[in-house]
Amino acid sequence: MRPTYVCLLAAVIAAPLLSQETPLTAVPYTPSLDTEFMDRSADPCTNFYQYACGNWNKLNPIPPDQAGWDVYSKLTDENQRFLWGILQQAANASGARTPNEQEIGDYFHACMNEEAVERAGYRPLDPMLAQIAKLNAISSLAAYVGDAHHRGINRGVLFGFGAGQDYDNSSQEIAFARAGGLGLPDRDYYTKADAKSQEIRSRYVQHVARMLQMIGESEPDAKADAETVMSIETDLAKASLTRVEKRNPYNLKHTYTPDELRGLTPKFDWDTYLTRIHAPEFQKVNVTEPKFFTALNNELDRHNIADWRAYLRWQLINSEARYLSPKFVEANFEFFDKYLRGVQQMPARWKTCTRLIDRQLGEALGQVFVARTFSPQTKQDALKMTREIEAEMGRDIKDLTWMSEPTKQQALLKLNAIVNKIGYPDHWRDYGSVQIDPADFLGDVTHASEFEEQRQLTKIGKPVDRSEWYMSPPTVNAYYDAQTNDINFPAGVLQPPLFDPKLDAAPNYGQTGATIGHELTHGFDDEGRQFDAQGNLKDWWTSADAKAFEDRVNCVRQQYAQYVVVDDIHINSSLTLGEDVADIGGTLLAYIAWKHATAGQDLKPADDLTPDQRFFVGMAQWACGDQRPEIKRMRAITDPHSPDEFRVNGVVANLPEFGEAFGCRAGQPMMRANACRVW
Ligand SMILES: [Zn+2]
Repeated sequence: MRPTYVCLLAAVIAAPLLSQETPLTAVPYTPSLDTEFMDRSADPCTNFYQYACGNWNKLNPIPPDQAGWDVYSKLTDENQRFLWGILQQAANASGARTPNEQEIGDYFHACMNEEAVERAGYRPLDPMLAQIAKLNAISSLAAYVGDAHHRGINRGVLFGFGAGQDYDNSSQEIAFARAGGLGLPDRDYYTKADAKSQEIRSRYVQHVARMLQMIGESEPDAKADAETVMSIETDLAKASLTRVEKRNPYNLKHTYTPDELRGLTPKFDWDTYLTRIHAPEFQKVNVTEPKFFTALNNELDRHNIADWRAYLRWQLINSEARYLSPKFVEANFEFFDKYLRGVQQMPARWKTCTRLIDRQLGEALGQVFVARTFSPQTKQDALKMTREIEAEMGRDIKDLTWMSEPTKQQALLKLNAIVNKIGYPDHWRDYGSVQIDPADFLGDVTHASEFEEQRQLTKIGKPVDRSEWYMSPPTVNAYYDAQTNDINFPAGVLQPPLFDPKLDAAPNYGQTGATIGHELTHGFDDEGRQFDAQGNLKDWWTSADAKAFEDRVNCVRQQYAQYVVVDDIHINSSLTLGEDVADIGGTLLAYIAWKHATAGQDLKPADDLTPDQRFFVGMAQWACGDQRPEIKRMRAITDPHSPDEFRVNGVVANLPEFGEAFGCRAGQPMMRANACRVW
């Protein structure tokens, strides 16, 4: 679980399902450029997104069980239907199954047995609720929190603890203590003063009370306890850094000894806690947010044990509700999905189960996915394109007019050190020790969580395993990790319509080429540039070059701050800056790489589009889609990516190559007068 500095290509939009759906035996083919999705009545120089994607939403309305629907989430959904088939087969297989098939098949069987889940109600939580009920002093909290974290049940209660890469020595894993303890999706939900935020908070308190009643509290008690929960969480939220503050890695780097950690939160019994989570010995711990731990100590002082029991009951039921009987799943859905995200209908059970197994046993399920969908040829083709785009970035760095020679040398060193990880891991994770029982769903969830918690915790004190992946192979996404300096493209994102061997080079470079360029650029965005070739947090820039860089990214910051997400909410462009810079840089790199790759070829127009126009329409069509207003509001707070429309229009408006391809005139919306250019 990499908490920081992993730059995803896109925010993950939870997928849904329709009741008539059946498992897929193959992921359906969609071309990477489809003129059906275009709205040719729109002027590409006024609104290119509308021109390239205007019909996509008409042909692909948001399904009722989705908060949004776009090319990525649709492909994610199709992958899940394919995984569903794999799981069904593994669950029903008579006769010999491989150990992997047995593991994922039995887990799927347990998860799909809704009758057993219904019968169990919330009884699987009884032992933990009983443990909470027995807490009689503040000093007794640590044992419970340690047990909860150890079992991976309610792993975020109070705070987070685990391994992380040392900012000063990127080859070493050390202990990390992180802020946590909240129930709403971001600390800003607790602090914003506008009317909508106040409404959300009051609905949240009602939801907390409802859930507490469902585990047996009287209505007056549940109401009072919900207010207590809100009070504790609000204080913790106020002491937590904002997402923008967390984008500066120096804000998260605070090295403590174990004794200093004890001194920071003396009311918390760290020794008992560390024993209960089975933590290895350590001499050094990075406390990402010391202010949070000081506030936590104040809260432990301010609230009596009865208040904490209420908080722990809520945190437990909130974290486990989706694994309990349908009435808990529904209540959880009502608030977090329907009210906060705008989803109209609950996803089908098979989808919930497929996603859970992808999350918990992802490399066991992913192995089968890779074997059936990802050819060695695709891997080779993707690697070839990656190397071309890396070479282009090298040329780009050498030609920069605003960067001095010494910084260029360091930048090239970093570029050459980037490791390309394509498709799937070299070594598959072994889940053999995870005990899976086809008749014990919550037991399976717990065993898989416990396995993952221990896998993470035992990293403390060990060298970093740079071969590890933080996404499962079927995932439709990609990431750059600044601390390992590698780019990662799971097999799931290297399929049509994103990577399409059947189509010409133009849309492929526009889509996957731009994605590769995007991830590469993250190594050199406002956040990534602060890490060196080995992934250490280390300044390798001259101050004049750093200043020139800042001026250039400020251009992007100002540009995106103008765009409106929904109602009167603008893009928080200090949050999206890294992604916006990566979008612009990635597209330009892909365009130049495509020009080089096809130099001397006689490229012909197709579908009434010139080759250059095909590049840009292909590039735009990765982002076709729409979101419900509720999720737009949420993502304006939580998502470091700009909305899809601006990930297209904001990019092309900075590229004279685009204006030329479509014959745009200066002063038109897609031809910004003062175009921004960083890379
Ligand atoms: Zn990104």
